[in-house]
Amino acid sequence: MARKTVLVCDSCSKEIDDGKGATLRLTYADARRGAKQADLCEVCAQDLPGHAVARRGRRPKNAAA
Ligand SMILES: [Zn+2]
Repeated sequence: MARKTVLVCDSCSKEIDDGKGATLRLTYADARRGAKQADLCEVCAQDLPGHAVARRGRRPKNAAA
């Protein structure tokens, strides 16, 4: 039987349940620095800075021209 991969929060080290949590992907403006990624539980994801990003493919109706 294959062992299930358990995701652990990179911030608080708690286990993240299946279908829960979030992945934070950080990309530097300087591409040479590469990128980093963190798995976060829902609590830590809430605490992080950031803002909601609109889904691609649809423009906001009242965007300033
Ligand atoms: Zn956490």
